[in-house]
Amino acid sequence: MNRLVVVSNRLADPRKASAGGLAVALGEALNSTGGLWFGWSGRIIEGGTAGEGDLHVQQAGRVTLATVDIGRDDHDAYYSVYSNGVLWPVFHYRLDLARFESGAIAGYRRVNQLFARRLQPLLKPGDAIWIHDYHLIPLAAELRAMGCGNPIGFFLHIPLPPPPIFATIPEHDWLMRSLFACDLVGFQSRQDLAHFSAYVVTEAGGRALGDGRFEAFGRTLRAGAFPIGIDVDEFARLAAGREARETFATMREQYARRSLLVGVDRLDYSKGLPQRIKAFRELLVNYPENRDSATLIQIVSPSRESVDAYADILRELEGLCGAVNGDFGSLDWMPVRYIHRTVARKRLPGLYRAARVGLITPLRDGMNLVAKEYVVAQDSDDPGVLVLSRFAGAAEQLHEALLVNPYDIRGSAEAIQQALRMPLAERRARHAALLARIREHDVHRWCGDFLGALAGDGPAAGNA
Ligand code: UDP
Repeated sequence: MNRLVVVSNRLADPRKASAGGLAVALGEALNSTGGLWFGWSGRIIEGGTAGEGDLHVQQAGRVTLATVDIGRDDHDAYYSVYSNGVLWPVFHYRLDLARFESGAIAGYRRVNQLFARRLQPLLKPGDAIWIHDYHLIPLAAELRAMGCGNPIGFFLHIPLPPPPIFATIPEHDWLMRSLFACDLVGFQSRQDLAHFSAYVVTEAGGRALGDGRFEAFGRTLRAGAFPIGIDVDEFARLAAGREARETFATMREQYARRSLLVGVDRLDYSKGLPQRIKAFRELLVNYPENRDSATLIQIVSPSRESVDAYADILRELEGLCGAVNGDFGSLDWMPVRYIHRTVARKRLPGLYRAARVGLITPLRDGMNLVAKEYVVAQDSDDPGVLVLSRFAGAAEQLHEALLVNPYDIRGSAEAIQQALRMPLAERRARHAALLARIREHDVHRWCGDFLGALAGDGPAAGNA
């Protein structure tokens, strides 16, 4: 088997339990080929020279970890301004939050060129290269420009918007042309793939050749939907662990008389947090029997808080939660427990399992792994109900969840009420179907399907 080379902005040590399913799966794939994982070191060099950064190489078992430092100005332009100020909001359909500042594209390109320059000497003929996510869209083209002829695959972890939205990025043509330097491009959902196909035809003057093959910019590539999964066994092990059981016991004891709802999200405007609190408020208004009973625990894990849009959403959220508690709370009942802190992964299964309802209602999300984790953590004999946004990538697979439009506050409140009242038999049936699908399409299958397609012996098509 050829050596695998994974490239991503950040690396995780695959040997650490806290690394999460993706790092574990990539670590396994890398381990089996004695592979190389390449990315940013996490170090920013103050006053560093533009486009320069030292390389560090270390061994983690059979896997070589190679990382590069980035100068302050390059990092700001590449990471904060272009990746997270332009690509992230536009790819999540939030044109209103995009900061199209000219100049940042140069830093984004410089860092991709730096990655290519540092990676190229480490490559061997026959290596299969797998590039991850929106930070590194031009990397394949930069590698090709240096003469790299290896097979290259790219996976986009976030959504791809439809052509009229994508085309608002001044450099959209260059971004898509760069992607065509790859042999295989993977998306989270069939909808993302459809947007890619529409762009190729309507904006790039290319053609969909059938069987997942596309021609544009004088090149042909394959593209497919490869919905990412979780490591079900790893998560089940976490669920059986001491911390998860302790958390479950504490929650059950504290909320013995009440129905618990849970939301777990990174702080982001794509997660639909204000809409979720409004829907919960609507539930308390329209269905007063839930007063003094239904309690929403909303975990908001801190993220990118130096960015203005994130500070705004945080303030709005605090205001909405405070108002619900002020208007509906009583001496011994606080309707919303809002926790602005990261909860250790080991504890999450216990929290999920104690909750009668999992509220996962992003306005737009590449996949949303929390939705899958919530299902896996449930007690099959008495499972909770997943209320899921139809705009999460996961909705294409998890049809047995109660799918909602998070912009529709009233409709979301109705779905929460339905979830709270759902009979046991229906809960069990829905949960069994969801669990089977999540198990079938776990992170190992995702990895295997993508790498199989890159090697040319698997379909580059939706498999959900
Ligand atoms: N997570 C966590 N602690 C928290 C919040 C989230 O460990 O307090 C984990 C969660 O278990 C999940 C991941 O972070 O595995 C979030 O992934 P998801 O795809 O849902 O959202 P993203 O952050 O990638 O947008």
